[in-house]
Order: sequence, then structure tokens, then C-alpha cells
Amino acid sequence: MFDLTGKTALVTGATGGIGGAIARQLHQCGATIAISGRQRDKLDQLASELGERCMGLSCDLANKTEVAGLIDEAVKALGGRLDILVNNAGLTKDNLFMVMKDEQWDDVIAVNLTSTFMLMRAAARHMMRSKSGFGRIINISSVSGIIGNPGQANYAASKAGMIGMTKSLAREVASRGITANCIAPGFISTPMTDVLNEKQVAAIKEAIPAQAFGTPDDIASAVVYLASREARYVTGQTLHVNGGMVMI
Ligand code: NAD
Repeated sequence: MFDLTGKTALVTGATGGIGGAIARQLHQCGATIAISGRQRDKLDQLASELGERCMGLSCDLANKTEVAGLIDEAVKALGGRLDILVNNAGLTKDNLFMVMKDEQWDDVIAVNLTSTFMLMRAAARHMMRSKSGFGRIINISSVSGIIGNPGQANYAASKAGMIGMTKSLAREVASRGITANCIAPGFISTPMTDVLNEKQVAAIKEAIPAQAFGTPDDIASAVVYLASREARYVTGQTLHVNGGMVMI
């Protein structure tokens, strides 16, 4: 197991399926974590389950003022240091391209892409200023951002945009020991995919060589690796965790 003792991390969307698993695994590896989300009760529940080294921070990522303050809040809660940022929160508002409403586009871009940009910018500034020579930024993208998906033009654009944005930051900060990478999950069993009906699930499984959906822990394990000291020479990459659904 990778050792993150002494490292501090912020995980967004920690009240969700994948975010909860990421928070648990980072914590299990020894990191002190700040978990962020909109639902205070769920944050408190996870914080009390994990006990020491875990703080809950409420933040609505659709609200720019709240997003602008989140990194400072996390640094304060984590004792003055942020080593690892995991931008995991995300949402879908699906509709066919030709009838997609402006609000559906704007809402998904705001949470999935704009808030990710703002948090990366603030975290990178903090990591540079700290001169610790260590920083990890990990963004949860999606297979939809790689191959597209009918009904998800907004979501696919946000997740593909995340990849280009991550590569750009990675090039700017690599010499300071800060890495920036994406993980592109395929289909993972969480509340986000619970909305699929049996017929859809069966059709998707047909397209996955592993013939099954992944679990939140499959994604969390990839996060732990990219957060580790051992991944210091990996930057600007997208790690595809999808059961072989897309091979690049
Ligand atoms: P989920 O719905 O269980 O969790 C999403 C999290 O994002 C929740 O905690 C939710 O509260 C949070 N969130 C949404 N809007 C927010 C806002 N305005 N402010 C703050 N938090 C907000 O879904 P999940 O499957 O755990 O998704 C986690 C990430 O993985 C997302 O970025 C998603 O796009 C990505 N992803 C999921 C799958 C999958 O198959 N489940 C596949 C590819 C990518």
C-alpha cells in the first residue's frame, strides 16, 4: 500500500459514491483529509466514521464565491498545508444535442469545468508558494470526454476540457515537483449510474471486455497511486480505468 502519512488532501464531492471511496482510501493510507460537498449531514457522517485526520467543509461548486474560498478554508483546516487536490465532484444534465437547453450546458460546465479550474488555480498557487517540492492535482474526468456519449454534449465537453486544462497546468508546474493528472472512469456503480435501466446496463456491459461495471474503489486506488511519492514522474496523463471499454 502507498504511504501518504503526513500528506494533506482535499476531496470534492466526497458525499458521492466515488468521492467517498477516494476519501476513505486516502485516509487509510495515512493522509489528513478535508472532505467537501453540499450535504452537511453526509459530510458529518463520513467525518465521524473516519475519526481523526478528517474535516468536513461545505461548498456548493455552482457558487463561484464559495468555490473561491474553498482552498483557503481547506489549507486552514489542514493545518496550513495542502499537498493533494482531488477534483471529483461532478454532475450530469443530459439531453439530446439539438434540444439541449442553455441552462443544462451552463450548469454542467460551471460545476465540472469552471470550479475545477478555480480550485486547480488556487491549489497550484498554494503549492508553489509553499516551496515543498510536492504537489498532486488529480481530476476525475470520464470516458464520455474521450469518446463522447449521446445526450451528454455538455458533460463530454466538460470532461474533455478538463483533460486539456490538466495537461496545460502540468506543463507549467512540473519543474516544481507538482503533478497534474486525470483519471477517466468508465462505468462505475454509483448513484450517477443507478439511473440506468436494466436494458441499458446490459447493453453497456456488452461493450466492456471485463463484462462488469467498476467499483468506486477501482477509481480510488488509481487516485492513491497518482497521489503517491512513487508517481512523481507521471504528469499530464489520463489514466483510463474502464474495464477495457476504451483502449488508447
Ligand atoms: P455521485 O453522484 O455519487 O457523486 C457526485 C458528487 O458530486 C456528489 O457528492 C455530489 O454532491 C457532488 N456535486 C454535484 N454537484 C455539486 C455541486 N454543485 N457542488 C458540490 N458538489 C457537487 O457520482 P459519482 O459516480 O461518484 O461521480 C464522481 C465523479 O466521477 C464525477 O465527476 C463523475 O462525473 C465521474 N464519473 C463517474 C462515472 C460513473 O460511472 N459513476 C463515470 C465517469 C466519471
